[in-house]
Amino acid sequence: APTVGVFALQGDVREHLRMLESLGVRALGVRRPAELDQCDALVLPGGESTTMAKLARTFELFDAIRKRIAGGMPTLGTCAGMILLADRIVDGAAGQETFGGLDVTVRRNAFGRQVDSFEGDIAFEGMAGSVHAVFIRAPWVEQAGPGVEPLARVADGAAAGRIVAVRQGHLLATSFHPEVGGDARVHRLLVDQVRSRPGSTDD
Ligand code: GLN
Repeated sequence: APTVGVFALQGDVREHLRMLESLGVRALGVRRPAELDQCDALVLPGGESTTMAKLARTFELFDAIRKRIAGGMPTLGTCAGMILLADRIVDGAAGQETFGGLDVTVRRNAFGRQVDSFEGDIAFEGMAGSVHAVFIRAPWVEQAGPGVEPLARVADGAAAGRIVAVRQGHLLATSFHPEVGGDARVHRLLVDQVRSRPGSTDD
C-alpha cells in the first residue's frame, strides 16, 4: 500500500491519519526528513500556518517538503495547509513563508470575525450530492492562475462564489476541514492521485 504522510509538527493531525487509514493506505505522521522520504503523498493539515512553516524550518523539513512538492508528490493542503501550498498570500504575517507550488493567491483568515467558524453543505466538482464543509478561521482562494481548477465555492452569504477548493495537477487544497465529519471523498482524491501515478507500486 502507498504511504501517505501527515505533516505532524503542529496542527490537526490525528483525524487525517484516521481518515487515510480508512482508505487502506499506510498513514504516517511526519516530523523528520527520514519520515518524509517514506511518503508517496502528503497532507498538510489545518493549524497555524506561520507556526507550521517555522517549525518546518527548525526541524529541517522545510526545503525537503518544498522540493518534494515541486517534484510532483501528490499533496493535499487543508485550511492552514492550503496557505502553505499557495504561491502568494494576502494578509499573511510579515515575511510569512510557504512551501508553494499552487499558483493561487490565498487570503488568510478571509471570512472575518463575524463568521470566524461556520459549516455548510457545498457542491464539489465531480462528487455526487454535497460535501459537508467545516470552516475554522479559514482562508479562501482570492485569485487562481490558469492551470488551477476550482472545485468548490461558497454557496451563499457575503462570501458567495469564493473559491474554497482547488486542484492543480498533483496538488489539492481546501479552505475547509475534510477530515472532520466522516466523509473521506476529498482524501480519496489524494489517494487516487498516488495510485494513478506512473511507477506507483500499489500492492
Ligand atoms: N487561520 C489559520 C492560519 O492562518 C488557519 C486556520 C486553520 O487551519 N484552521 O494559519
